Amino acid sequence: MAHSSKDQATIVIVGAGSIGLWTAYFLAQAQAGPQHASKITVIDACHSPFAATSRTCTGCIHYAFEADGLVELGRYSFELWDALSHDDAFRSAVSWRSSSIFGVERGDGENLDLLPEWLRRREGWRVNREFLGARNAMVNPIGVGKWLADRCTELGVRIYTSTVLTSVAQDEDGRVHQLICTRDDRMIKVPCEKLVLAGGPWTPAVYEKLFPSSAVHLELVMDAGDWMVFRNPNPSTEKSIAFIGLNNIVHEKLEFAGRDDGTIWVCGRRDTPGALVPLGTAGEVNVRMVAELTGRSYRFLQVQRNDDPESFEELQVESLGRSFRPCTRSGLPMMSAVSLSQLCERSSRRPGSGKVMSQLIRGKDPDIDISPFIIPGKSGGETCSADVAKTIHRSSL
Ligand SMILES: Cc1cc2nc3c(=O)[nH]c(=O)nc-3n(C[C@H](O)[C@H](O)[C@H](O)COP(=O)(O)OP(=O)(O)OC[C@H]3O[C@@H](n4cnc5c(N)ncnc54)[C@H](O)[C@@H]3O)c2cc1C
Repeated sequence: MAHSSKDQATIVIVGAGSIGLWTAYFLAQAQAGPQHASKITVIDACHSPFAATSRTCTGCIHYAFEADGLVELGRYSFELWDALSHDDAFRSAVSWRSSSIFGVERGDGENLDLLPEWLRRREGWRVNREFLGARNAMVNPIGVGKWLADRCTELGVRIYTSTVLTSVAQDEDGRVHQLICTRDDRMIKVPCEKLVLAGGPWTPAVYEKLFPSSAVHLELVMDAGDWMVFRNPNPSTEKSIAFIGLNNIVHEKLEFAGRDDGTIWVCGRRDTPGALVPLGTAGEVNVRMVAELTGRSYRFLQVQRNDDPESFEELQVESLGRSFRPCTRSGLPMMSAVSLSQLCERSSRRPGSGKVMSQLIRGKDPDIDISPFIIPGKSGGETCSADVAKTIHRSSL
């Protein structure tokens, strides 16, 4: 039988990925006291927070983007990361390492000493320290997720996992006042004054399902990535935390990320369009891609014993999977004036997006210009009109 949740949630954030949790974190921080903070609820279909794309991304922090609007948001986000990184506990929790993104190119041996010990060096290579811009850092996404979920919980945010938002109840003005969710085949009704959709690649489908008559149309662009995590056969050092882009060597996307937990992450070319998996489930890997990534890992990782090409360590696979980048055709994220959702990849702007979303939810002027990110109306392209903004406001926040 349907029952009402006892929690009088005021702001409900759908999605406990990086966008949802950074938004909750900055919102809760800005609240006057625990009494207010307890009214922020995050729900997620997965069995734990940060279990979808946010957990399985590379972990590059930078703002070397092509679109001007994105550079400002990326820089703003980078400054937030940078400020947090002055705290030793944060650095250690997220395995922060500044200036650790490197691109390998054909060349004269320049900067080869920067390469981590887990990569096999080759004659005729050089290292580009500005592959993703001069200011950059690496983090371990798993550590980021744990740090964020812990901080949110400390700040009084309630995080409900294995909970799927399926429909909304609206009053006669179209204002959402209740969310209908399912958890373990039970229906749960969650009181809601403000709804924030931070559902990553699922946001467009969820929005259309919740608000079928809305004038707003969110485009869906699929961009999947197959990834593998290997145990690092070499001892971990400070230099192990590094991103290596071999794109200019193999002439397509090939990225490795070393972590201080004794693992190396690898990802290859994008799959567009890759079919999005049902909510709360893991993507099935592309078997051909896994074979290719494995072969390339043996080729580029330091697996040789005593420099003997005939003798090598077998790579141990820790995990593998397929993740989905939340994308738009323009390449820009989407944030309405009332904070509807995030829909973009190639970020490094996640704390920035979360902070801006939290400002919009609180009715404050955002720290940066968000006009490039306004959600377009149904015809697409044009900036969100006042009417559309009102619709979003009424139906979604
Ligand atoms: C292979 C790969 C590498 C990447 N590398 C980087 C990188 O180096 N740097 C970078 O900045 N970005 C990177 N990205 C992009 C980055 O991972 C994403 O931009 C970011 O994780 C998106 O976060 P999110 O919170 O929007 O989405 P997600 O992490 O996918 O979270 C969305 C959550 O919403 C939940 N949800 C959706 N609808 C509902 C519903 N109706 N009810 C309940 N729950 C719901 C889902 O279960 C999910 O957990 C990469 C992406 C990929 C795929």
